[in-house]
Amino acid sequence: MSVLSNEARVKILSDIIEIQSVNEKELDVAHYLQQLFKQYDIQSEILKLDGEDSRANLVAEVGNGKPVVGVSGHMDVVTTGDTDQWHYNPFKLTEDNEGKLHGRGSADMKSGLAALAISLIEIKAAGTLNKGTIRFMATAGEEVTSNGAALLHDKGYMDDVDALLIAEPSQDGIVYTHKGTMDIRVTSKGKSAHSSMPELGFNAINPLVDFIHYLNAEYNKVDVHSELLGTPTMNATVINGGDQVNSIPEFSEALFNMRTIPDFDNTKFEALFNQIKDKVATEDNGEITIDPYVNRNPVYTNGNNDFLKLAKSLGDEYFNRDLDVTSSTATTDASYLMKDKDESFAFVMYGPGETGQAHQVDEYVYKDTYLTFINLYIQLLPQYLNSAN
Ligand SMILES: [Zn+2]
Repeated sequence: MSVLSNEARVKILSDIIEIQSVNEKELDVAHYLQQLFKQYDIQSEILKLDGEDSRANLVAEVGNGKPVVGVSGHMDVVTTGDTDQWHYNPFKLTEDNEGKLHGRGSADMKSGLAALAISLIEIKAAGTLNKGTIRFMATAGEEVTSNGAALLHDKGYMDDVDALLIAEPSQDGIVYTHKGTMDIRVTSKGKSAHSSMPELGFNAINPLVDFIHYLNAEYNKVDVHSELLGTPTMNATVINGGDQVNSIPEFSEALFNMRTIPDFDNTKFEALFNQIKDKVATEDNGEITIDPYVNRNPVYTNGNNDFLKLAKSLGDEYFNRDLDVTSSTATTDASYLMKDKDESFAFVMYGPGETGQAHQVDEYVYKDTYLTFINLYIQLLPQYLNSAN
């Protein structure tokens, strides 16, 4: 017997989508979930992010002892973009005549988050968990820096976790490994002077141009490839500097985005940037600083574990087809949550919604897919834990 009807399950998703947690206000989603859990006798804890009034994680558990399965979803969403392009109110869940539920976060990833929360309630009410713990971790800040996940990792919430499910949209497939990402700001400091007397200043643009040139040349020599994840990528994507044509610029900066793989990971990129920085300092006397302000590691597992096997066999059954078990170029909170785990760790990114719907205008999830995932989680989590040794 379920405690929540399909109608109630859709209502919960609709309520969460109405909370406009666009890169902030995750605390409001956390309060909503806390109240919901409370009605079904599930205790939860809110963990505020340092120095943030409206941003927090929420952690709730059912069961006790080992083993522990972590289930996780982020509560933030990205901006709507140009709302004129939307055919629906982005913050009002709207069903169309094809069974699609539209709204910002319907795919990425409030449907996954709601499905996990509902499965927790149903598992607790049905008393189907005989052994172990399900730890629900709702995070803040995934879309920009993953600082909510970083906080959970640093406070030890992952230490005893044996398997992790992140309910990001996986197109009804299962992802067990993904690339990392990294954003680095390179700043060059000079000294301003009138352009008629440049010898009194130091032009901040020249060392930065050299930096970019040397960096690209050095990176072109990198020849690594992962069968699952392909090659790493590096691109200068923003450049700024100077403010007046007859002044020697005292400042310039460039931003770089990297997509990383285990064979050329975030540490290697940082080392490469530092090597080029030293070269520029020696040759041009330039003053360059390196700031890796987004730093999310690649997540690599070998996929050889019982959790993935069960997720796959139940998925094949629930969706009545052979699900892809695959890699992704997207990144998730697992970059932080799995910081201390090795490749044998059981990780799946497995949730409702198509990957391509994330961040889109008219974002949607199929109602059927959402409801099916809830039932799948209700079976998967206790079945895995009850039979684990
Ligand atoms: Zn997401």
